[in-house]
Amino acid sequence: MSWSRFFWDGSEVYTFPSQGPTAEGHYECCGCYLNGHSWKTLEYAEFVAHLDEHRAAGHEVPDYAYEGAAEWYAEHHPPTGEETADGADAGEDDQA
Ligand SMILES: [Zn+2]
Repeated sequence: MSWSRFFWDGSEVYTFPSQGPTAEGHYECCGCYLNGHSWKTLEYAEFVAHLDEHRAAGHEVPDYAYEGAAEWYAEHHPPTGEETADGADAGEDDQA
């Protein structure tokens, strides 16, 4: 599974979740054009900032690269319900 691949809609980023030593895993930018080698982070916010860097550099970054990462983040950081009083059904929904 990947969020974006080279050449999909002219994409210049190849991104996907790569499982790391922690439950959160990594957000990976494979063969990153900015770094000249693969780049990865454990931080979602840092990954989004990285995609922004690509766009700032004029690289094509499909919206679904952001969306895929956001969905993956949501899956791995489900709402705890601790901050909302009405989190009655905060469990998993369609985890196959
Ligand atoms: Zn990159």
